[in-house]
Parts: sequence; structure tokens; C-alpha cells
Amino acid sequence: MKKFIPGFIYLLLFGNCVAQTKNSENIVIVTLDGMRWQEIFGGADSLLCFDTTAVYSYKYAQSHFWAPTAIERRKKLMPFFWTEIASKGMLLGNRVYNNKVNNANRYWFSYPGYNEIFTGYPDTNVNSNDKIPNPNETVFEYLNKMPEYKAKVAVFGSWDVYASIFNEARSGLVLNDGFRDLRGNLTERQQLFNKMQHEMPIIFHGGERLDVATFHIAFEYMKVNKPKLIYFGFGDTDEFAHGGMYDFYLDAAQHADDWIHQIWNFIQATPGYADKTTLIITTDHGRGSAEGGNWKHHGEKIHNAGEIWIAAIGPSVPAIGEAKTAAQYQQGQIAASIAQWLGKKYQPAHQPLPALELKK
Ligand SMILES: [Zn+2]
Repeated sequence: MKKFIPGFIYLLLFGNCVAQTKNSENIVIVTLDGMRWQEIFGGADSLLCFDTTAVYSYKYAQSHFWAPTAIERRKKLMPFFWTEIASKGMLLGNRVYNNKVNNANRYWFSYPGYNEIFTGYPDTNVNSNDKIPNPNETVFEYLNKMPEYKAKVAVFGSWDVYASIFNEARSGLVLNDGFRDLRGNLTERQQLFNKMQHEMPIIFHGGERLDVATFHIAFEYMKVNKPKLIYFGFGDTDEFAHGGMYDFYLDAAQHADDWIHQIWNFIQATPGYADKTTLIITTDHGRGSAEGGNWKHHGEKIHNAGEIWIAAIGPSVPAIGEAKTAAQYQQGQIAASIAQWLGKKYQPAHQPLPALELKK
């Protein structure tokens, strides 16, 4: 059985940097569904920005996101990633440098990906996006059983399958997904956000709201309730990519970058969070390449759709910036990292499977 190196301690041991890190008291994790590493590290794709036959506005993509070099383009697309995180955190997965992050699961779609992120292992029994309560325990459910985290763990997502992924009924986590209203003693702003989510266009399939609703509902909850573990699960990037709307896909990524910036500013300005909180940003799966329109798709039949990326910033993260050394990481390392960065040990309750052979 291949040994998983817990967390990103690998970098500390084998990387160039021996920066001091310390435990965190809080973890914030954000996912951008199906966001490609190609745009994270290279910005807007040249083929897709100059595709005059595209159904989307390639002119908009050009005028808003194009620049001559990848360095300029990625900074234009995701300024927070390429200023703050690049200088004070770490970014893994730029395959230009053979720095690779992959799904260990072989499905390359959402539920198996989220299962791998939050339980630490791929599971061949978790192989559909159906609303089946997850038999596996996530690191969030595990930590929520500890007195210091009890009722301080919250999950917010645009997609209405998160309640199943985190097994809401069993885990008892604070959970708000799909078009559900936040319940409890609400502030005026919270009541407004509940209302607004039903007044926005429903542009995806029935169970998925726009990320702007998820962000504000979750961010306000964070400000009011100060959870120790909070998850923002965004979905716009995947939905717009499936729709072949590259202009909207880039916009969605840029909005997410701005929201992450707002979350980070709040963390750093808030006693209890400041300098005690590590922020992780990643994705559930990759997508195909620009050629042949495969960027719209993912799943086992799409070549290289298991190629992903991970970014993080905070007291538990070495400030190595963009990792430029050859390495191979797996999505499942995130769960162990979350626990380790809090000074806890997480051993999933379910039997871990051997890591699957990764395609070169
Ligand atoms: Zn997905």
C-alpha cells in the first residue's frame, strides 16, 4: 500500500524552504468546482480567447482576461491568488514544472472528488453524484465530535448534494446547500440573503444556486457565528464550463478570487481568526484540454481530467509560493492536512483503499 505522507509536511521535509509553521485554530476551505489548473497557473487560455467560432463572447474573454504572458494573465484573472497567496502561501499543481496534484479516485466528477477531499481517500463505492448519504466519515464530522469543535463546523455549498456528501443526518453539521434557507436567529442581512437567493435567476439545473448567494449566506454566517471550521463550496465554474460559456467561466473564477480575498481580509482583521486560521482552496476534479472542446467536460473518459491543484495560506502553511519542483500530490492529502494543521490526528473510520495507479 502506498504510504500517504500526511499533509504537506512533504514540502517541509523535501522542499527548498524550511519556513516555520505552527498549528492553526481554525480552518476555512473553499472549492471551485471543476476549475482547471490550466487557468489557475496560466490565466485565460489562448485557444479559447481567440476562437472566433466560439458560442461565447471570445471578444469579452480577450478584452477582460487576455495579456501576452501567462504570468500577466493569471494575475489578471485571480489577483488575490497571485499577490497574497503567491507571496505568503503556497500553490501546488503547476504541471509546467512537473509539480502535480491528482485525484486518486478514477471518476473525475464531483461527489467522488469531494469525498476524497474530506475523507482523505478514494472510495470505489462512492461513484455517482446521486444523493446517497455518504457512508464515510469526513474530517469535519470527525472533528465536530470533539468538544472544542462541537457545533462550530459549518458547510455551505451551491450544489444540493453537499448534505449527502457530509451525511447531514448522521454528522449533525450546520449545513446549508442548494436553495435552502438558513435557519435560526437571523440578522436582517441574513434574512435578506435568504430571500434574495430565491429571486436570482435559476440558471443551472434545479438544485444549484448561483455562487453569489452561497458566498453571502456563508460569509455572513462566518461573521455572526465564528465557526472554527467552515467550508464554502462554489459551483459556477463547473456549470459555466459545461455550458461552453468560457467568458462566464472566467468571470466566475475572478469573482471567487475576490470573495476569497474578502474572506482572508476578514480573517486577518478579526480577533480569534487573525494569525490562527489557515485557508485552503482547491477543486474536486479537473477538466479536459482546450483542444477539441474537451475543456467543457470531465469524467473518466476525458483525458487528464484528474489533474487538479491546491492553494493554501495561513500559519500552518510554508510560504513557498508557487511550487516549482517536481512532485506528486493527491487530493486525499487535504483531509489529513486539515487535522494535522489543527494539531489533531485523523484516521478515517472507513478502510482506506490503496492509492490507484496514476497515469503519467
Ligand atoms: Zn464537480
